[in-house]
Amino acid sequence: MTSPMEIYQLLPKTNCKICGEATCMAFAVKLLRREGKVEECTPLLDTKYENNLKKLNEIFSEIEGAEETGLIVHDELCFGCGNCVVACPVNVANDPYGVGIGKGPTNEKVILKVVNKTVVPFNIETCRRFGKGGILCDACIVTCPSKAIEFV
Ligand code: SF4
Ligand code: SF4
Ligand code: SF4
Repeated sequence: MTSPMEIYQLLPKTNCKICGEATCMAFAVKLLRREGKVEECTPLLDTKYENNLKKLNEIFSEIEGAEETGLIVHDELCFGCGNCVVACPVNVANDPYGVGIGKGPTNEKVILKVVNKTVVPFNIETCRRFGKGGILCDACIVTCPSKAIEFV
């Protein structure tokens, strides 16, 4: 799971208080509690923080997805083998040829893709577990050799 310290390291660390919090660490905790939005830290718009902002947006878009499906990818355990990518029935339905011959899916509709040797969730609203009518699909979990995928 993402820790407050990981989030803090991506913030400007100036304790400027523009976000309404006394310190950047307090803001990091607020973000993890889903009580604030990354954009409330306007100093992050400075180009020198461009990469930090991108990473923060990636982290929080994954966490927002987890609210709906519970899907969490533990990056430190994933080594990008692609087993989950080819096992996901939604991936297969959306890219039958790319998945079927063992290549990574190639279009923008799939849920799981390997990016830089780590699997990244996209289009989470199409996951079979999504929403109140979701079903207990576990194809991506059972095919992962390192238990990197978890539904919380
Ligand atoms: S606005 Fe950003 S830099 Fe300023 S205190 Fe809040 S988190 Fe830190
Ligand atoms: S739970 Fe099923 S539909 Fe959702 S990402 Fe995993 S394999 Fe795909
Ligand atoms: S989550 Fe597991 S199955 Fe999927 S790419 Fe990573 S290590 Fe492989």
